[in-house]
Amino acid sequence: MNAVARDAGAQPPAQALLPSQPQRPRLALPPSLPLLPGIARLGVLGGGQLGRMFVHAAQVHGYRVTVLEPDAASPAGAAADAHLRAAYADAAALTELATGCAAVTTEFENVPAAALRTLAATCTVSPPADAVEVCQHRAREKAAFLAAGVPCAPYAQVDSAQAAAAPTLAALLPGILKTASLGYDGKGQATVMTLAELPAAWAALGGVDCVLEQRLPLRLEISVIVARGADGDVVHLPVQQNLHRGGILAVTQVPAPDVPEATAALAVQLAQQLAQALAYVGVLCVEFFVLEDGSLVANEMAPRPHNSGHHSLDACDVSQFDLQLRTLVGLPLVAPRLHSPAVMLNLLGDLWFRGDASAFASAPAPAPLTGLTPLTPDWPAVLALPGAHLHLYGKAEARRGRKMGHLTVTAASAVQARAVALQAAELLGLPAF
Ligand code: ADP
Ligand code: MG
Repeated sequence: MNAVARDAGAQPPAQALLPSQPQRPRLALPPSLPLLPGIARLGVLGGGQLGRMFVHAAQVHGYRVTVLEPDAASPAGAAADAHLRAAYADAAALTELATGCAAVTTEFENVPAAALRTLAATCTVSPPADAVEVCQHRAREKAAFLAAGVPCAPYAQVDSAQAAAAPTLAALLPGILKTASLGYDGKGQATVMTLAELPAAWAALGGVDCVLEQRLPLRLEISVIVARGADGDVVHLPVQQNLHRGGILAVTQVPAPDVPEATAALAVQLAQQLAQALAYVGVLCVEFFVLEDGSLVANEMAPRPHNSGHHSLDACDVSQFDLQLRTLVGLPLVAPRLHSPAVMLNLLGDLWFRGDASAFASAPAPAPLTGLTPLTPDWPAVLALPGAHLHLYGKAEARRGRKMGHLTVTAASAVQARAVALQAAELLGLPAF
């Protein structure tokens, strides 16, 4: 561990923060017992915006939160009661987290599963390491879909030059070759039209373990967020309809305007099936394709709250971060109610610059936007719109494609939410949807 940065420099050790009256004996709760708000410290692996919003939800309920994150300047670290600055696999840091926290969660699916297993030996951890490990690898993920009876795109593993030259792959073309691990926001992917292109495409992705999947005719994309408690109770958020631009989520609409009720119900059922098959505890997001023929195919899943669920902070009576907290500490799960139709716009770093649009296209994300003029988006104008909820993640540097925040517009009707969100998009220079 390199450094431990603690808030205000005056924090006593985590354990001493539990009951505050000195005359009372200390309460040491066995980790298996449900916790009550206000008496415990929770831990988060990862310092991004998802961790930040979990920190907020936990603090609202009276918990103190320690974030383990190597980066000195992180959105979650800045919001947390304590920031443990070390690598996710750092043994001393994990010991400190396990001894100081009653329960630990993750905001990032690529934390080493071994770190979760180490923590789980001495404190409550959710989601479980096994499920996180499945989500870290596209081939394992697809095998888990099929084992749970959830359809996914036809695929094959491509993990060697020999595998990349296999004539049987012709059945999957045109296809999308994706790195099995560490891909996000459309990175680590290549469209492959012919067998002849495959070996070079595989080599260009670094010759790493990949998955080739058939390119499917998409009508639209949706996602479902479920939360499953340790007792097997499951609740879900309303089905979200998602629009991606350049491989990055751009717009989420709830209720999903173009999804038949039966399709939405099936998506929820499949996501619940998956959570159950994985013996999952925590918040799980499953992304689906709705194909041209109306059928549903699972794309990928995330063992954590998801960008497409951010609307729940402002549009639901229980947010996805509240659900993460409740599943982590064993508090009751109640079915979230969408009290307002909502449209969420992602706010990427590109909004902080004005200039030649081609510079946006050519700058390799997440490179800084050099050669462009920095600007501050017109937040007062955006916030003058009724039902506009602005969330900025406190990131100091805007970069192309970097998620800086999101804007959720809620309204009395879906038509109104969309109309106001379109106004917001125009003010921000975002395309209409
Ligand atoms: P990421 O992990 O980067 O989000 P995804 O696997 O979700 O990667 O792919 C990103 C986007 O690419 C999807 O949201 C979808 O628009 C498109 N896509 C991915 N796989 C397919 C497919 N098999 N057929 C058609 N489009 C796809
Ligand atoms: Mg995706």
